[in-house]
Amino acid sequence: MNRVFFRNAMVWDGTGAPSFPADVLVEGNRIKTVARHVGQLSADGATVIDCRGLTLMPGLVEGHAHISFGGAVNDSDLGNIPPEEHVLLTMRNAKTLLDHGFTSAYSAASSKLRLDVVIRNEIEAGRLPGPRIKACSPEITVTAGLGDERKQHMYYESFGMIADGPDEIARAVRLCCREGVDNIKVNISGDDLGPKAHGGVTVMREIEVRTAVEVARDFGKKINCHARAAASVKRAVKCGIDVIYHCESADEEALDMLESVKDKIFVGPAIGIIYGTLYEGEPWGFTREMAIHIGMQRVIDDSCKVYTELRKRGVRALIGGDYGFAQSPQGTNARDLKHFVDLLGYTPSEALQCGTRIGGQVMGMGHELGLVKDGFIADLLLVNGDPLKDLAMMVPEESFLVIMKDGALYKNIAQAKAQERAA
Ligand SMILES: [Zn+2]
Repeated sequence: MNRVFFRNAMVWDGTGAPSFPADVLVEGNRIKTVARHVGQLSADGATVIDCRGLTLMPGLVEGHAHISFGGAVNDSDLGNIPPEEHVLLTMRNAKTLLDHGFTSAYSAASSKLRLDVVIRNEIEAGRLPGPRIKACSPEITVTAGLGDERKQHMYYESFGMIADGPDEIARAVRLCCREGVDNIKVNISGDDLGPKAHGGVTVMREIEVRTAVEVARDFGKKINCHARAAASVKRAVKCGIDVIYHCESADEEALDMLESVKDKIFVGPAIGIIYGTLYEGEPWGFTREMAIHIGMQRVIDDSCKVYTELRKRGVRALIGGDYGFAQSPQGTNARDLKHFVDLLGYTPSEALQCGTRIGGQVMGMGHELGLVKDGFIADLLLVNGDPLKDLAMMVPEESFLVIMKDGALYKNIAQAKAQERAA
């Protein structure tokens, strides 16, 4: 059996406890032992990695992944990509995520129905590098909702799958289940970056949301939603949605409702794209003036208030900031960790827990994923520094000396780096 011995690590285990020195033994795809007395554990027959006191932590979980999104400025850009190129783009993005320490990805929507599914399957079969993926449907949306890019005189594709009324919604959800998704996405509110219904507008009727949840449940799938307006957040909770993204306009009643189901649901601010549009969007035509005009500063301010409150109330939040657009490129996904601290008031440890332990829970694997703990799946990162002191170091791939997924060493340059330093 494959054995890997991490000697003399500083373990940040994902529970929120301070880091501690330990030796860690991996056997097969599981963490066999986390030994707090360094030097006591036998490394017999194992590949030894000398960690030299560097931080060993759980692999990151992208909680709002759009693996099939890449470089889009407008939502219709994704619709313009032919299926063949789109498969290849998705394949490259999956590798990019793993290269940057994301060993798992919970998808918040696929751009075409089978993109997440086929890449998930190839990765699971060991034929492609990438994180373990929970594959999502496209964004099921109503006419005029986020993802409907059509014009009266002209058809446009997007990342949306348009369905109106309970019957069409039921059919769309069933179709996605038939084609192999793990979870469903519905767009309950509009969006300020979209041309039609804005973020404050709740476009999907209660009967439509309820139907989508019922059918997803029939197939044993989870269901996610896009919900900015307060009314859309309340509708999501009322109908039993599992993962409620955005929520920045939640009012007191919506906050109370979210808190009432805090052990069942997850939320995710998806702040990366908002930050990117506001501060880094110039090359793609988002001037600062225009970004403020379409409400990007307001979204950040409101998110700060709402997520401060949600954090106090113990509602579990996921990192993942809609990476995959021009102003939020794939590979920079871990910037969300620092955004959680700088923009939303989380501590570095809390932000990292959102990206590890809580991520393991949304994957439906909280009992075996997201912690450095005896018996857990061996998704481990050896990082060249202390992320608790500098979260920005979690972004560049050079920071990761070792990336282990499912007990397999995907990357190991620990020895080479040590030799380089010695020289
Ligand atoms: Zn998204």
